[in-house]
Amino acid sequence: GDLFGEGKMFLPQVVKSARVMKQAVAHLQPFIEEEKTEGNSTNGKILMATVKGDVHDIGKNIVGVVLQCNNYEVIDLGVMVHSEEILRVAREENVDIIGLSGLITPSLDEMVHVAREMQRQDFQVPLMIGGATTSKAHTAVKIEPGYDNDLVVYVPDASRSVSVATQLMGDSKTGFVKERRDEYAVVRERVANRKPRTRQLAYKDAVANGRQLEWDNYQPPRPSFLGTRVFDNLPIEELVATIDWTPFFITWELAGKFPAILDDNKVGIQARELYADATAMLDRIVSEKLLTAQATVGFWPAARIDGDDVIVYADDSRGEPIATLHHMRQQMEKPNGEANFSLADFIAPEDSAAQDYIGGFCVTTGHGVAELAAEFEANHDDYNSIMLKALADRLAESLAEYMHKKVRTELWGYAEDEALSNEELIRERYRGIRPAPGYPACPDHTEKAALFNLLDATANCGVSLSESYAMEPASSVSGFYYSHPESRYFAVGKIGHDQLASIAARKGEKQETMERWLAPNLE
Ligand code: SAH
Repeated sequence: GDLFGEGKMFLPQVVKSARVMKQAVAHLQPFIEEEKTEGNSTNGKILMATVKGDVHDIGKNIVGVVLQCNNYEVIDLGVMVHSEEILRVAREENVDIIGLSGLITPSLDEMVHVAREMQRQDFQVPLMIGGATTSKAHTAVKIEPGYDNDLVVYVPDASRSVSVATQLMGDSKTGFVKERRDEYAVVRERVANRKPRTRQLAYKDAVANGRQLEWDNYQPPRPSFLGTRVFDNLPIEELVATIDWTPFFITWELAGKFPAILDDNKVGIQARELYADATAMLDRIVSEKLLTAQATVGFWPAARIDGDDVIVYADDSRGEPIATLHHMRQQMEKPNGEANFSLADFIAPEDSAAQDYIGGFCVTTGHGVAELAAEFEANHDDYNSIMLKALADRLAESLAEYMHKKVRTELWGYAEDEALSNEELIRERYRGIRPAPGYPACPDHTEKAALFNLLDATANCGVSLSESYAMEPASSVSGFYYSHPESRYFAVGKIGHDQLASIAARKGEKQETMERWLAPNLE
């Protein structure tokens, strides 16, 4: 039976018990080697990898442990693995299944590429797809048509991975494959026949229906400095109280809002044990200074031009711009006279009297995480390796909150008297936003290039961008600061090819190039 589905087993428990099992196995290894020659074997060999350009591996690592607990041999190639490497090892090791993982949207396109390569090179093994931005629809519509030698299957969460692998390796494979293929064919058909629920405006009409703020009587606040400033050795202990815990439990596939989850009927006991382990590790992180918190913040004079671009200047003389930021605009027809938002709407236009500013930030708690995690893994302790990564991610988000508060109350200083509780901070009940490229209000990951240039983020806090614009180390957050009281988050959603063409022209990129980066926002 499926113990996860029946609520009799939970991921943290499984991963934690794997430690005991693996350490025992390591201890008994010499004897086990002997056994093997007598024909002892595993349920199958599975290759796992986070695709090229992506650095996130928490989900992949959880899946790996769960599969190992169920007597699968897992060959984990780690993160940022090119398709040639994946396919070379898959061939050499004669694996039974290939599993791809990824978190950021550019990874979706990379998975399509790997599937096509498998077809071209005549692979005959199933392909499992998982990770935060992956979906049944993307798997059915974009990945499966590229590979039909065996099944391409979407695995929605780690607790489902064992039953999928078991079906793929067992006698019921034929039936399972047919069911999945039928299911995906239905999804493809539904997507192909989908009547758009809302009509799309022409891009120029969407621009005309942007949020019109009143600039003539508005005095934008001036930051206390212009250019960048580096903050090293920020106090990790002060980040603990503003951790947003709900996503931490989601990482471990325990559903429920914090703190209510600790008393939940179904998962409460598990949640409490996990939370106790997390708190214990946080204590170690703080007392043994296992991690560092670093930030770079910058402010620059800025003005909106041409609808959706924002030009950035070095100083108040507003001479030659040092950067141009390209924003995307909602293009769906809106009800009740609502506006079609773009982040550009929240910056004063060049021809208005208001002299506006924009900020940028990059924060990280990720330095040293990979090395420490590797130490845990060398000791067969996947539980603590995964725990450390999950907590470093939480601390990075909390650091983003910490620096944002410092910006509002001090560095930009437009909310000196702000007095919000930690709860209110986590719920973002303050003036201003910090939109991050790759998130719904600015889904174009490539805009991180301009942000990182402005901040000199790689030199200033040791964070670099991968070929897919993922930040390394993974526990990093970057984005822009907006001060206008009306600035807010929204989702750009689907855009038209007219906007795509405009973005490509403004960025000086080929249309096909931008089409790949923005694929999730195109029909
Ligand atoms: N408190 C949450 C925040 C997650 S969102 C947590 O701890 O997980 C991560 C970052 O994305 C935020 O810090 C913010 O910079 C940015 N963000 C959130 N919603 C956004 C949106 N709709 N558009 C752009 N950026 C967004």
